[in-house]
Amino acid sequence: MPLTMMAVHAHPDDECITTGGVLCKYSDEGVETVVVTCTGGEAGEIAHPSLATPETLAAVRTRELAEALRILGVRHHRTLGYRDSGMMSTPDNRHPDAFWRADLDEATGKLVALVRELRPQVIIAYNENGDYGHPDHINAHRIAVAAYYAAGDPNRYPEQGRSPWKPSKLYYSAWPRSHRVLMTRLLAEAGLPDPWGEDDPEWTVPDEDVTTRVDVAAYTARRRAALMAHKTQVPEDSAWMTVPEAIWSQLDAEETFRRAHSRIRTELPEDDLFAGLRTSEG
Ligand SMILES: [Zn+2]
Repeated sequence: MPLTMMAVHAHPDDECITTGGVLCKYSDEGVETVVVTCTGGEAGEIAHPSLATPETLAAVRTRELAEALRILGVRHHRTLGYRDSGMMSTPDNRHPDAFWRADLDEATGKLVALVRELRPQVIIAYNENGDYGHPDHINAHRIAVAAYYAAGDPNRYPEQGRSPWKPSKLYYSAWPRSHRVLMTRLLAEAGLPDPWGEDDPEWTVPDEDVTTRVDVAAYTARRRAALMAHKTQVPEDSAWMTVPEAIWSQLDAEETFRRAHSRIRTELPEDDLFAGLRTSEG
């Protein structure tokens, strides 16, 4: 049985931001890596008008995503086909195809079908707040959690066919406050402005919530190259561009997660998403 990991993401580019390092690392190690992208990113901003128009953005982002996945080494990609809902309380929320308006039971069924097909032991989702409150991230969290519990139950979604499959571990991405503190310090030492000012960004979590830290220091350049493939999403004044690469590579040296559920017994903290699942461990 191959080791398989599924990362459930809201938009093209999210796969790089919270899971780029682990996708590189585990792909290189021979793990079957899966990215599910729930929406096409149609409501994203366009970094430069030469790159796309609102009408062409979805097609352009599909190509950007394919290139990013190639760089990361991701083995399997699936989409759920919803429309980007835009930021909370914007008109895109009300588009009839918006993921925010989707029937979540139906959306969960689509993801259950993928879990049964691809059989991941590990699923990575966002936290309950979608990491930072974006409607599509919140719904991506909801369906990932629902599919984690439902995919192994033969009485749930029988119309999705295939044999039930119980993933072993569910993780949420988790960016600890200490990383934010480190970022502030590195920027101050370099005499550079902090793109987030004095504020504690809403996407950080208390350090004690982090259960799992994966060393991905060897992959920071590749992860960054994959992120840069999303050209429409990286304007010149974004933190990705204004914070020097040398600082990003220190911040991105590990990717951090909260283990939200496990069906196997393993000790915490962990340094491997597959801890307890490798055959050498019995
Ligand atoms: Zn997103």
